[in-house]
Amino acid sequence: MNLNRHKSKELFEEAKKMFPGGVHSPVRAFKSVYGPPLFIDSANASYLFDVDGNKYIDFCNSWGPLILGHKNPEVIELVQKTVAKGLSFGTPNPISNELGKLILQNNKYIEKIRFVSSGTEAVMSAIRLARGYSGKNKIVKFEGCYHGHVDSLMVKAGSGLATFGTSTSAGIPESFIKETIVLPLADLKQLENTLQTYKNEIAAIIIEPVPANNGLLLQDHNYLKKMRELCTQNNVLLIWDEVISGFRVGFEGAAGFYDIQPDIITYGKIIGGGMPVGAYAANSHIMSHVAPEGNVYQAGTLSANPISMAAGLATLQICSRKNFYRDMENKTKRFVRRIRELVSKNVTDISIQTIGSIFWIAFSDTRIMRSDQIDPKSMEKYKELHAFLLEKGIYLGPSGYEVGFISDAHTDEILEQSAHTIALGINKIS
Ligand SMILES: *Cc1c(COP(=O)(O)O)cnc(C)c1O
Repeated sequence: MNLNRHKSKELFEEAKKMFPGGVHSPVRAFKSVYGPPLFIDSANASYLFDVDGNKYIDFCNSWGPLILGHKNPEVIELVQKTVAKGLSFGTPNPISNELGKLILQNNKYIEKIRFVSSGTEAVMSAIRLARGYSGKNKIVKFEGCYHGHVDSLMVKAGSGLATFGTSTSAGIPESFIKETIVLPLADLKQLENTLQTYKNEIAAIIIEPVPANNGLLLQDHNYLKKMRELCTQNNVLLIWDEVISGFRVGFEGAAGFYDIQPDIITYGKIIGGGMPVGAYAANSHIMSHVAPEGNVYQAGTLSANPISMAAGLATLQICSRKNFYRDMENKTKRFVRRIRELVSKNVTDISIQTIGSIFWIAFSDTRIMRSDQIDPKSMEKYKELHAFLLEKGIYLGPSGYEVGFISDAHTDEILEQSAHTIALGINKIS
């Protein structure tokens, strides 16, 4: 491999002495791909610059938040203006009102919102709200959906027909796991059966309506619609985890994309424009249960701090402009089409899924809708592709289970060039 990563390697060695695995979030350690992780020094528009002087076209965008790419001038300007007034006051501030207004006036699926500081915190709070509101304890989640590192959601399906799962992390009490039911995606029958048996104990069903943390496991509209109906019939709340899809597949997220009304929606990533923000939202009635209006407690020292609100506000102002999402989607469709066109006809095991400005390259010959359809061996090919693309100056997420994101800063020219390089890599590896 020719890529010079000397400084990254040195810094990683130093980091490993201080931080578990050298990182502050596991996937950053590059365990599923070759080489030490890149230490990024700066970024601009669609480019990342590492400490060794290499330059990459970025398709990870900080895992999704940077829908405008890096250092959008309007975002930076508002953040700098806000920084100059002080970092945090621990009091209400006018800029959070601005962000609240922008979001609520342009999203008919929610009436009230609470800002927190991460997607995990948003989901954790939404689960508590669902339990507090319903007086029930159990949560249904789906295999292949990620909801942050919330205790009761770090659960995968158990073996055989066992309804209750096993934890995916040490340190989670068995008693928490017992409150979580794990079901496969794209399977209405199992969902119906589960609701029939446990509806009086189930507080909520939580799903990523656009499952994008385990590949891109796009679900059928009818499945999502049917799930909504089943929730209503059985008096079970429906939580849509839109931490990725929110403000990504449209300003109204997946709720708007599919025109389905969830009971509670969680947001993260784009809502903070690159700063730590999460949120949960619902109608006024459900949200009235949140403290201090109601008895579901939830608080945060740095919640809705002005700097994070400024980054979110400036970002979403741009996203709310006419045709923003239409243009993003069209650009992404062209990009994916170009890769497909340029991949050799001899390559049969490639499937590229896309929705909005998300894409996922899978070494598979069929469309994948459930996590158990992903062949772990196909990840070896992704590893090769990842290394090839780094050499050629393209940065994809360091795992084949991660999706790619197009940003507003990716020009048609950059995308055309990238499609060529990616197709070249696929042809070489297959
Ligand atoms: C990223 C993500 C989370 C967790 O958000 P953090 O900000 O990393 O805590 C939760 N749910 C979904 C769907 C996500 O993509």
